[in-house]
Amino acid sequence: MLKIAIQKSGRLYEDSIKLLKECGIQLNNGNKQLKTVAENFPLEVYFLRDDDIPQYVFDGVADIGIVGENVLLEKAKDIDLVYRLGFGKCKLSIAVPKAMQYKSIDDLKGLKIATTYSNILQKYLKEKNSDAEIHEISGSVEIAPGIGLADAICDLVSSGSTLFTNGLKEVEVILKSEAVLTANKNLTEENKNILEKLLLRINAVKTAKNNKYIILNAPNHQLQNIENVLPGMKSPTVTPLATEGWSSVQSVVNENDFWEVIEKLKQFEAEGILVIPIEKMIV
Ligand code: ATP
Ligand code: MG
Repeated sequence: MLKIAIQKSGRLYEDSIKLLKECGIQLNNGNKQLKTVAENFPLEVYFLRDDDIPQYVFDGVADIGIVGENVLLEKAKDIDLVYRLGFGKCKLSIAVPKAMQYKSIDDLKGLKIATTYSNILQKYLKEKNSDAEIHEISGSVEIAPGIGLADAICDLVSSGSTLFTNGLKEVEVILKSEAVLTANKNLTEENKNILEKLLLRINAVKTAKNNKYIILNAPNHQLQNIENVLPGMKSPTVTPLATEGWSSVQSVVNENDFWEVIEKLKQFEAEGILVIPIEKMIV
């Protein structure tokens, strides 16, 4: 049985559970217990504080874990980053009081920066040849400048609204982070196999989310043009319609190209374009 550590509560909890569910893994007990066993997949789930997950994965208490890349880098344990999961996106940034004139990192010279990410910050300051001082605290970082504890902060930012309400502005982005799947380096053969199976499912879910299935009607004299904009998985599926001179075309389109493709299809006289979400996609 493969043991996975996920956050007990907090920003990554819901999305971690949702991912397992989309992978077809049923958990009957939520985070009210410390651990639970999946009903239909050889997986045991441990609910933990996110800060502890890298250590537990390193020690082999858990085989794999879902954690923010920010936590993974801060803890710097010798464990693998197996998969970027695409949720829990945020930045680790330096912010200063709004009124402060700020042009470059040199403006932090001799100033005190409060953070819970002292390892990442230290590395960053060293790379930038900055002699700013790090003041490590364990929480409520954003209020530090307001109460005279520090001149600046280094903390996680997503929308920036917390910074704004605390009279701060973001001045340096140190890291762009998202939730990642991390794994112990010495998994047993059996657990490696289970992880492979889990990754196949995660991949299918993620690939599906990045793609849309589209069906449209096209006049036959435009089919070649339409096929050129629609690569599909191999090539688009084309079926003649009952209406003389028209065909139905089906294909898969990547989210990134979506609007560009739709515009071109319209140019080539496509009609009745249906866009359908894909649940799983195994390529
Ligand atoms: P725990 O109780 O497990 O220690 P926590 O309070 O340390 O939880 P959360 O605030 O729940 O942690 O954040 C968990 C992770 O969510 C972060 O490490 C980060 O990767 C991600 N995250 C995404 N957006 C944000 C944000 N705006 N602020 C903080 N974390 C964010
Ligand atoms: Mg934490």
